[in-house]
Amino acid sequence: MKKAFAFGFLAAMTAFAARADSYPQRPITMVVPFAAGGPTDVIARIVAEPMSKVLGQQVVIENVAGAGGTTGITRASQSAPDGYTIMMGHMGTHGAAPALFKGLKYDPAKSFDPIGLAAGTPIVIVAKKTMAATDLKGLVEALKSGGSSINQAHAGVGSVSHSTGVLFDSIIGAKPTLVVYRGTGPALNDLVAGQVDFMTDQIVNVAPQIAGNTIKAYAIATPERSPSLPNVPTTKEAGLPDYQVSAWNAVFAPKGLPEDVRKKLVDALDAAVKDPNATKRILELGGTVPKTEEAGPVALQKLVESEVARWTPVLRSAVEGSNP
Ligand code: ASP
Repeated sequence: MKKAFAFGFLAAMTAFAARADSYPQRPITMVVPFAAGGPTDVIARIVAEPMSKVLGQQVVIENVAGAGGTTGITRASQSAPDGYTIMMGHMGTHGAAPALFKGLKYDPAKSFDPIGLAAGTPIVIVAKKTMAATDLKGLVEALKSGGSSINQAHAGVGSVSHSTGVLFDSIIGAKPTLVVYRGTGPALNDLVAGQVDFMTDQIVNVAPQIAGNTIKAYAIATPERSPSLPNVPTTKEAGLPDYQVSAWNAVFAPKGLPEDVRKKLVDALDAAVKDPNATKRILELGGTVPKTEEAGPVALQKLVESEVARWTPVLRSAVEGSNP
């Protein structure tokens, strides 16, 4: 009897150890809730590469776009919490969305095991190259007087470009027509082509086009200028100090990961954001890499809770005044 018990116990321990050692045994899917080529996709691909090396299995990007990122995040949140489906969320999906979707099928603070922050992404106000205004004051005037004849691109209600965009409109008192895309990658293509007039978006998307002079940048909404765009003034310098916003991208998993799996993912992301190549690419694009106090799941959980609390009142009133 004793022997049988001992054997059973040993077998259970071996099975446990085997599972802990063996994760991951197959590729891991990282859901990106926007179109390929946009900022969330870019950050996801930058960290997926070193994560794959650390985990010994490929982290494969799957773009599931729609509804401002909430389609992909909803689907990923409902998948098995086994470490084989993770997702790249952001300030929109895990901060702004609850303010704008009554029937949101996930709770950013409760439905996930946070893995960690991947990058900070300041917001830049950009417009098509042929926009006549030469500075932010001129742009604000043009947007106010242009009314609904001006088209503003965004990546869906609740996305970063939508929430920071309607906040911008409400601060300056403009009512442009909002044009929805499946991500700001395709929105940026249309901005370069002059099909839409302006947008507010994450720096990692727009920095290369600003540097290449194919679009105009009017201001960056952070207290300091970005080293990657030294000629772009801050909103404070450009005369709109009230417009201060910054976004971020972070990795989440569906809630309920086995502890050993969770730890492997946290460690892999931590190594990925410290990878010299990944760091270099994020910084070149104007993003920021997580500081020690910003990294990891505890800091991310706090960030999500504070972002939901911060955005909910601001967005509800900003959206009331915008053109749907
Ligand atoms: N930056 C986009 C947003 O506005 C999404 C994306 O394409 O990554 O939320």
